[in-house]
Amino acid sequence: MEYDFLIVGSGLFGSVCAHELNKKGKKVLVVDKRGHLGGNIYTENNDGIQVHKYGAHIFHTNDKYIWDYVNSFVEFNRFTNSPLANYEGKLFNLPFNMNTFYQLWGTKTPQEALDVINQQRKEIVAGPQNLEEQAISLVGRDIYEKLIKGYTEKQWGRACSELPAFIINRLPVRFTYDNNYFSDRYQGIPIGGYTKLIECMLDGIEVRLNVDFLKDKELLTKLAKEIIYTGPIDEFFDYQFGALEYRTLRFESETLPVENYQGNAVINFTERQIPYTRIIEHKHFDFVSTKHTVITKEYPSEWKLGDEPYYPVNDNKNMELFKQYRTLAKTKANVHFGGRLGEYKYLDMHLVIKSALNMVSEL
Ligand code: FAD
Ligand code: UDP
Repeated sequence: MEYDFLIVGSGLFGSVCAHELNKKGKKVLVVDKRGHLGGNIYTENNDGIQVHKYGAHIFHTNDKYIWDYVNSFVEFNRFTNSPLANYEGKLFNLPFNMNTFYQLWGTKTPQEALDVINQQRKEIVAGPQNLEEQAISLVGRDIYEKLIKGYTEKQWGRACSELPAFIINRLPVRFTYDNNYFSDRYQGIPIGGYTKLIECMLDGIEVRLNVDFLKDKELLTKLAKEIIYTGPIDEFFDYQFGALEYRTLRFESETLPVENYQGNAVINFTERQIPYTRIIEHKHFDFVSTKHTVITKEYPSEWKLGDEPYYPVNDNKNMELFKQYRTLAKTKANVHFGGRLGEYKYLDMHLVIKSALNMVSEL
């Protein structure tokens, strides 16, 4: 056998594994079915602007080890995510904080804002049973109607009353004038884009692009003693128990001859009537000065086989299906499943890195 490890997928999970194994002296081959490195964190250079081709990516973590780890490859800038929400032409700060409460109700102190929210919370008497009830009990009906309902129903393609409450647990609510979306200690974007981060991780490692492992499984399997597979776990097993479900996204990008289109990297559109959920203006992630700009509108939609899988639908039905595949995966002694598709889990980048480092140390 020519290689110690074959790594299927050059996304963040595969690249961290490849880097660490190579560092330990293992002979590694990385294959990816796409024509570029980086999986979903791939950024493409458009005349100086790094375009996040598969959706906006902001690195954030509380873990100093992980922060130092990524900074050992490339320098990160001081980007802080502070999106705005546009509802019927009016702008509101996110996440929900004292600025948002002032814009909505004119309240100036935390107690004034809390009084309004407490009054509106009263309509939920028992424990919240779904996302709608969870949102109202968290921030009241006003914010739910204007900033949550439309956005969430577009994003998930179903009524908030039919969605699990945990989806919005990620959204912070603050009684300070703080528009920082994340509460983590460390945050930023790699200067020069995420592709540079991946290129540094894969420096000196053999990579073959446009190679679909599943189309050439027999031959490629013979090349290495162990395989790390970061593609969809159900596809590996030819969907024998059925396909795991996802939500997908369509990205519509435009290059515009203006320096500054919307003045912020992310603006969410929270009303139901506007079909996209947000507009990303990529140059604001990396603070570059150019005469043009690139914007991307994000349209969520129902996923079907063949579409790009973005958000796993972690409901009971799909989790049961995933468990079947995971049990089957354990019978494949020399194949190790990892990453967001292998684990069928929405994982932020810092968690993907942690999970990859754990896998390598176990191996
Ligand atoms: P991927 O990046 O999907 O990599 C898998 C790779 O495997 C791909 O390159 C694919 O082509 C390849 N592959 C699959 N099957 C095969 C095959 N048969 N043969 C060969 N190659 C194959 N995280 C954050 O921390 N901050 C954010 O702001 C953030 N924003 C996000 C926004 C969106 C819209 C989405 C969907 C995710 C976001 N994430 C964010 C999460 C982030 O994208 C993931 O943590 C990360 O991309 C996961 O890396 P991965 O290597 O597991 O998967
Ligand atoms: N959300 C919302 N309004 C917003 C932004 C988010 O209602 O303006 C809700 C929505 O249900 C979304 C969830 O909060 O799915 C998590 O949002 P986050 O921005 O963390 O996730 P992303 O959409 O970036 O994956």
